[in-house]
Amino acid sequence: MSIKTTIHQQRAFFNSNITKDIQYRKKALKRLEKLLQENETALYTAIYSDFQKSEFETYTTELSIIYHEISVALKKLSSWAKPKRVASDMLNFPSKSYIYSEPLGSVLIIGAWNYPYGLSLAPVITALAAGNTVILKPSEISIHTSNIMAKLINENFDSHYFCVIEGGVETTTEILEEKFDKIFFTGSTMVGRIVYQAAAKYLTPVVLELGGKSPTFILKDADITISAKRIVWAKFLNAGQTCVAPDYLLIEDCIKEKFVQALKKEIDKQFSQLEDNYVQIINERNFKRLESLIEEEKVIYGNKRDPQKRLITPTLLDNVTFEDKIMQEEIFGPLLPIISFDNLDDVIKELKTRPKPLSCYIYTQNSKCSDKIIQEFSFGGGAINDSVMHLTSENLPFGGVGESGMGSYHGKFGFDEFSHFKSILKKNTFFEFPIKYAPYSAFKLKIIKILSKA
Ligand code: NAD
Repeated sequence: MSIKTTIHQQRAFFNSNITKDIQYRKKALKRLEKLLQENETALYTAIYSDFQKSEFETYTTELSIIYHEISVALKKLSSWAKPKRVASDMLNFPSKSYIYSEPLGSVLIIGAWNYPYGLSLAPVITALAAGNTVILKPSEISIHTSNIMAKLINENFDSHYFCVIEGGVETTTEILEEKFDKIFFTGSTMVGRIVYQAAAKYLTPVVLELGGKSPTFILKDADITISAKRIVWAKFLNAGQTCVAPDYLLIEDCIKEKFVQALKKEIDKQFSQLEDNYVQIINERNFKRLESLIEEEKVIYGNKRDPQKRLITPTLLDNVTFEDKIMQEEIFGPLLPIISFDNLDDVIKELKTRPKPLSCYIYTQNSKCSDKIIQEFSFGGGAINDSVMHLTSENLPFGGVGESGMGSYHGKFGFDEFSHFKSILKKNTFFEFPIKYAPYSAFKLKIIKILSKA
């Protein structure tokens, strides 16, 4: 079936109003959950074939998030979707006011390869929960996970409602020529710009979940042991191929030496046995790109490389400056540059000259300092004394700002992104205030002025 036909069929299906039924949406979410649960082994095999990601990491960083999103949506969907009564204003007295949420229509979700299940299916869940039809285009770079999602979903869902279209740049370009009611894109800032331009043709709203260089502050009063543990986990998880990974460290001069020792100790503890604990770099192109970022004389730890297996061990680089090559692009791999500083204001000033990142992490016990960074520096979201974990909470919106993206999701925030909020003012007919009607008078204007301030 052609892409055009699939999209037209989805639009017709949406217009039949079937997806407006809350029970229909819940059934779809349950079917998806069951499908994933029954095929977990196949999902693990596929992702291992793509980049040797273990069952442990796949469950903890992808499937658990998907199951959680489904469970939250099943519990809360009825209340999210209910029309909400809000206060009416005096100018409309007597009246009632409501906000109705309505699905946007037919939506397109474009996934990235680094968390191929989570980044594709978490937005799908909220799009279906909101009552839309969905076309999912997973990344062709993680081909086995793309294949298994296409097989499972296309065999078990009506393509008029939810289907997977596989393919690379050519296919995505063809899909983007069509009109959608929302496009949800996860990927690089460069491709985000292409998607945004394609969407502009139809004034299609977009969510862009992009990347960036997420700084991690370690201030002099940080708890060294626990901070090093959390940073090493967050950075080298998925071999650094995580959009919210700490991209580089900003360490206050006076604790740098101690902190570097703690980092080395933690890397030894967590990653001395790479088997089953460490994923591959996704492809040769990225392996070579990462190699080109390594300045050998700045390496103080790790940097064992195996091009055949596409492995780079957790690597620390010291005495890095903002001018170095590694600081000019998102690293997206297991290289951790260290920049030391002695004046927080100067660092914040420098960061403000750079694109706004997706995340920022602050390790300190001093809430004045963490507040200062949060208030003065713009970034998508983050954590104090932790990294990455903010995205596990459905009560926190997950998304970027500026060059790291627009829009957000997880839990109700995702439902809202895929809904339109329709304002309805309900008036009765037994009473009419005469003051807005001609003939106008100074007295009527006086009353209106009083009411508009009420
Ligand atoms: P990418 O931009 O190369 O690809 C993402 C998607 O866009 C894929 O499905 C791909 O097929 C499609 N695509 C690629 N080139 C295209 C083109 N010219 N026209 C139309 N579509 C095209 O990104 P990636 O390599 O898959 O992922 C890495 C990037 O994604 C990093 O920058 C990372 O920070 C970011 N990312 C962000 C998040 C987030 O949640 N904010 C999550 C994961 C990754």
